Amino acid sequence: MDEVYSVKEAYHLLIEGDEGKEECTWAADVWNSLVPSKMSTIAWRLFHKRLPTKENLRKRGVPLNSSALCVGGCGNPEMEDHLFFNCPTLGAIWRGIARWLGIPIVFAEGGPDHLLNLKNLVPGNDKIRDRMGVIWFVVVSLIWKVRNELIFNHTTLIWKNCWKRAKSFLGESLERVLRGSHMI
Ligand SMILES: [Zn+2]
Repeated sequence: MDEVYSVKEAYHLLIEGDEGKEECTWAADVWNSLVPSKMSTIAWRLFHKRLPTKENLRKRGVPLNSSALCVGGCGNPEMEDHLFFNCPTLGAIWRGIARWLGIPIVFAEGGPDHLLNLKNLVPGNDKIRDRMGVIWFVVVSLIWKVRNELIFNHTTLIWKNCWKRAKSFLGESLERVLRGSHMI
């Protein structure tokens, strides 16, 4: 149901003149053929501040069933840039990625620039940049998944498991991308 809503919402925003123009700079990065559409939709909603984070729900006047604070237990309100990029708990996955790749990365505070930081990490053509970008989408989707599990399934955050999942999720996605590389 939520997914159907997202596609509808995406369509309406795309045909809205000004907002459509504004997103042109990063739309091609988000709606990339290497990225599964489910992951693109999460990123697209994130950049448009349309994900149902606690802060966005609060702004829309939706009553929250749980605390308005971040599930990372850091005591901050759950805003997009915090949850996905700057939370000392959940956002720490980016530091893990940098260690995993063996490349020091200086990330932007959030938004499309954060994605570009990862895409521009390795010098190369658009194909290489797009493959690097897949990592970003995988991590963002995983953070959203873990966040939802913590809230709705009342799971406990175990960092070690989270990182293990990130790596196998990444392995699968990258393998899929590399297998399909003849198409790009
Ligand atoms: Zn946090």
